[in-house]
Amino acid sequence: MKTNHHAHTRFSDGVGEPADYVRQALTEGLTSYGFSDHAPIPSGDIGSMKLHELGEYGKEIDRLRDLHAHEITLHKSLEVDYLPGVMNVNSPHILAAGLDYTIGAVHYVGYLSEGEPWSFQRPNPVFERGISTIFGDSPRRMVERYYALVREMVELHPPDVVAHLDRIKRRNVNGAYWDEHADWYVAAVEETLDAIAGADLIMEVNTRGIYLNEISDTYPSYWIVRRAHARGIKLQVNSDAHQPRHIVGGFRETYAGLRSLGVEAVWEFKDGGFRPAELLVTSPS
Ligand SMILES: [Zn+2]
Ligand SMILES: [Zn+2]
Repeated sequence: MKTNHHAHTRFSDGVGEPADYVRQALTEGLTSYGFSDHAPIPSGDIGSMKLHELGEYGKEIDRLRDLHAHEITLHKSLEVDYLPGVMNVNSPHILAAGLDYTIGAVHYVGYLSEGEPWSFQRPNPVFERGISTIFGDSPRRMVERYYALVREMVELHPPDVVAHLDRIKRRNVNGAYWDEHADWYVAAVEETLDAIAGADLIMEVNTRGIYLNEISDTYPSYWIVRRAHARGIKLQVNSDAHQPRHIVGGFRETYAGLRSLGVEAVWEFKDGGFRPAELLVTSPS
């Protein structure tokens, strides 16, 4: 598959100019490529992209789109945080950005006592501080809050694509904080998959954990991808690259994995909308 819909640049927390990613995409032989830097979070200015940079971001992608129109189709998107009462894909600055599509993500699941939004991705000691101060030392409460927020996003302010569904496991290496096979965890995941299926959204299969050696499979894990596919949820493989060299990182094994799960198509943004692109069955060589 010759595309990627979720990736960053120096406009948020990635490394390198958008042009560097286009150059790499051409080297990799991609036929389309989507930019989706973290959207500015106007309230408190906590996002990695500042509100005043959003215009420049859009203009630079438009410029590259025209410049390279004969060799690659470029998409303009943002990874939009769902923060209740603060931001979602229908926030004015997101609607005004003229995006091709939106990627919706939950990274913040509560506020530290200083009023600072707390991300479950933060390394220790901040990770454990959040669990203790916000969730009364209960990782389970934190995880259930996360999935409830994803469902709320999906139902109230649906993006086109749901980002890295079980990214919540990022700091749960070797099940340090909870058991991913516990009934309550599986139930939270299943309920969230039902919401995604009900809203008919695309769910990404994010390969970032593979090429960074964070985990051995994708966000979400294959057991979740299998259940998503069984519900007819539309899938899409994205690298979430933050460096040009990672734009197709983990793709080979992930597409092979999807085929082994019986997935026959992924959803690609083309001619103004998302369409299924058949996965070619390749013979082992
Ligand atoms: Zn993300
Ligand atoms: Zn991302």
